[in-house]
Amino acid sequence: MGEEVAKRLFVPIRCAKTGQQLVGRFVSDGGDWQLDQVQATEQPGTEGSSQSGVLSAEGRFYVADEFTGCPICQNLSFVQCGTCQNLTCWSGSSNFLCRYSGITGDVEGDVDVVLADDIG
Ligand SMILES: [Zn+2]
Ligand SMILES: [Zn+2]
Repeated sequence: MGEEVAKRLFVPIRCAKTGQQLVGRFVSDGGDWQLDQVQATEQPGTEGSSQSGVLSAEGRFYVADEFTGCPICQNLSFVQCGTCQNLTCWSGSSNFLCRYSGITGDVEGDVDVVLADDIG
């Protein structure tokens, strides 16, 4: 039996509906990363700032089965902006609005790298 290699990533994410700054928690089972929780962030005053996480984490990023959705709008998934790499909650529609850069686009491809605030 190997040692437990579970890790967690804390990744900035904004609500698609309100633009509020949140933080998503991704949990790894040693392979893929799964988003299992999104919470309000305790960092104040991110309005107008588009600061990203500083730690680049690679892998394949999915939504966990037990994920209960965005705490604000209950969206059950997330999308990554191809330009600024930030995450926004996502309803599953074919296009999205990035709440960091304001860019709109079609949703395509998989997420294979994120910018995290913390890994632990
Ligand atoms: Zn939301
Ligand atoms: Zn963006």
